[in-house]
Amino acid sequence: MADADGDGEFGVDRILADIHGLVAQNTGGEVADYIPELSKMDPTPFGIAVTTVGGAVHGIGDTQAPFTIQSTSKAFTYCMALEAIGRAKVLERVGVEPSGDPFNAIEFDPVTRRPYNPMVNAGAITVAGILRDVHGDAAFDEVLARLSAAAGRRLVLDEAVYRSEAATGHRNRAIGHLLVSVGALAEPMEPALDLYFRQCSISVTARDLATMAATIANMGDQPVTGREVFDIAAVRDTQAVMFTCGMYDYSGNWAYDVGVPAKSGVGGGIMGVVNRQLGIGTFSPRLDRKGNSVRGVESFRLLSAELGLHAFDLTNPGSAFVDSFFAGAGRS
Ligand code: GLN
Repeated sequence: MADADGDGEFGVDRILADIHGLVAQNTGGEVADYIPELSKMDPTPFGIAVTTVGGAVHGIGDTQAPFTIQSTSKAFTYCMALEAIGRAKVLERVGVEPSGDPFNAIEFDPVTRRPYNPMVNAGAITVAGILRDVHGDAAFDEVLARLSAAAGRRLVLDEAVYRSEAATGHRNRAIGHLLVSVGALAEPMEPALDLYFRQCSISVTARDLATMAATIANMGDQPVTGREVFDIAAVRDTQAVMFTCGMYDYSGNWAYDVGVPAKSGVGGGIMGVVNRQLGIGTFSPRLDRKGNSVRGVESFRLLSAELGLHAFDLTNPGSAFVDSFFAGAGRS
């Protein structure tokens, strides 16, 4: 369908439909099963959504199907931690170096004795600890409110997934104990872990992810509601970490091939930020061995090539501010 949204804009809808049709044929990968509730997911839904910084939303397929945000939440909680206690204090607790290891590795950086980065579980659990320190028992409500503001609608917790992970998350508890032992996480660690399990169990759609990503692309202002949701400096730092670490031990390949800051989750979602231009959200539950959605990765690769979205592509115009600055300088 060339004009899926019925808004008369044929170009992007046609491209989305073509990519969706092509990628839908790929049934590779497996639904995550280490969280029992996730193993019950229907593997078949597949949606791609794009929101522009001007607030236009385009989509194809299952863009309104709910799934849990999982690790994609890590980008937003990191942004909140930067705002809450400042960059220097956050850096004392969590690094910004890619680990090159799986997202759930039970490890820390032996040089700094801190988690490698906030996009892997060890770093995200530490970030949850920071948010608990700042907000106490209200921390989850703060996270939910902020993610809802970015999505432009009231998001809710998927209780079943939350209970399932809280009951079985032994690996994350092992990470928590390790962090306490090196002094990266304060005792008691249970509140930080509980916040982490809850933030991962927030229910979203591909359309939500696209709009939340567009809020980041739009320097923290939600493009549809116009509300200021995130601080501009925190958004910059968050994008940098998404670019280098957001796809776990696939981050290097992703930066090379797709070239946009992104964050995936084992619920099957991927969100990508095209700075100052677009937010992209995909949903398809079958994952590759690194925990990234198979169809999501393929969709992003094709979209990036088709629309010229790679950060270092000739076709990517970059920041309008820089353009205008140089244009001004040229005139004087
Ligand atoms: N809640 C999941 C976990 O901690 C999130 C992991 C992910 O999405 N990569 O294992």
